Amino acid sequence: MSEGQTLLAIDQGTTSSRAILFSPGGDVLDVQQKELALHYPQKGWVEQNPDDIWNDTRECCTKILEQCAALPAAIGITNQRETTIVWDRETGVPVYNAIVWQDRRTADYCDGLKEQGHEEMISGKTGLLLDPYFSATKLSWILDNVEGARVRAEAGELAFGTVDSFLLWKLTDGAVHATDITNVSRTMLYNIREQKWDEELLELFNIPASLLPEVRDNVSDFGSAFDGIPIGGMAGDQQAALIGQGCLKPGMVKSTYGTGCFALMNIGEAFKKSENRLLITVAYRVGGQITYAVEGSIFVAGAAIQWLRDGLGLFDDAAESEALATSVPDNNEVYFVPAFTGLGAPYWRPDVRATITGMSRESNKAHVVRAALEAQAYQTLDLIGAMEKDGGYDADVLRADGGLVANEFMCQFLADMLQRPVEVPKVVETTAWGAAVLAGVQVGVFESLQAASAQWLAEHRYEPKMAVSECEALYGGWKKAVDTLLSN
Ligand code: ADP
Repeated sequence: MSEGQTLLAIDQGTTSSRAILFSPGGDVLDVQQKELALHYPQKGWVEQNPDDIWNDTRECCTKILEQCAALPAAIGITNQRETTIVWDRETGVPVYNAIVWQDRRTADYCDGLKEQGHEEMISGKTGLLLDPYFSATKLSWILDNVEGARVRAEAGELAFGTVDSFLLWKLTDGAVHATDITNVSRTMLYNIREQKWDEELLELFNIPASLLPEVRDNVSDFGSAFDGIPIGGMAGDQQAALIGQGCLKPGMVKSTYGTGCFALMNIGEAFKKSENRLLITVAYRVGGQITYAVEGSIFVAGAAIQWLRDGLGLFDDAAESEALATSVPDNNEVYFVPAFTGLGAPYWRPDVRATITGMSRESNKAHVVRAALEAQAYQTLDLIGAMEKDGGYDADVLRADGGLVANEFMCQFLADMLQRPVEVPKVVETTAWGAAVLAGVQVGVFESLQAASAQWLAEHRYEPKMAVSECEALYGGWKKAVDTLLSN
């Protein structure tokens, strides 16, 4: 590793755009951030202004570059995934707002395709489920609903991209229209087994091929920006976090506990079909060698803690949840299933709603708070079980990050329930660090992803301490609470 070569990561997320300057050892040297507005023009619609995405990103980078002594060796980009943008190839002007991953406007379209029996074919090629979440139906919607868009697309005048691709176009002044294989694996237009845009899918969603960006490895020459700094790496946010957490071997899992929880397990170089309605996605491709991951999400993680704070007013600050939870010796058989927006994997019941069970006269707010924190572990155990079945690997360790890992009770309980260690990294900015690592490999700051991950360090390692019989009894209680909910 060459000393003193800094790396600039762009982390373009749903709620903010950030630029972070890292030392090669992963220390954060500078951070700039701008909040990004979400717009809700109709029920179920979620949009963002692409000009804001670009201007904020540029501003954050410029501020860092103005202050740093030497220019960074390279730039890496990580981004909110699936969000869809279409722009004019000549002017770079977007034809419509960015349609954000959360947007559900194409739900009926997806249901129609499901009724026609297309889901199996789509899953087999893309590893995804037929859902408005992914870019394909959002792109179709723009072409069919923005005046003149389809005609212009067919004439080759327009470009489509996810946020990475749009930023790259802007950063390179329109010189590069490319994306990386992890972002493209979320479009539902790309065959991740054959690693090519899929003609059958393009036809099904009625997408002209002239719109599409070129697909590159995660470590690549993506051009340059800001007077010649090479852009050397790019990956979607969850994949970047997997890399930032050094999960490069099959069976390694990272789990990010923020508002929701996203877990990815590295499943190696062979594509596998999910039997548990999880997503199969590209983890990364470097030097032409692809690695896959199985991905599962828990809709409500930290959001349950927010609800206890804001909805019930049980405390003022999320950090207080830990002292409350540990003020009682156990959950006193209180279980909190935080299905505010339904239950995801492995239950898939969008219709059910949250419940608190087992309340008695002795129950108090501490038990409810404890139950909410314990729920993070029960939900993870549900998910990891499904991931292990799909991936064919046992997870030896869970590498956790996100706001909730500040809660030591939660982390210890997670280790106990999983009956395996939980590691929290020293570099907490795992997503941005993953992008920096990719860029660093491209310019030789690191020899390889493996070399960069060798310097991964745990800040905390939580070993399982609870007796197996106790775990089983607690998990049995959770299962009973979920069963009661599902049978209602
Ligand atoms: P996001 O990136 O989704 O906005 P973060 O990773 O910043 O989320 O995590 C914020 C979430 O973590 C919030 O939902 C908050 O309630 C929760 N949280 C933060 N600190 C703690 C804590 N000490 N104990 C429990 N929950 C916490």
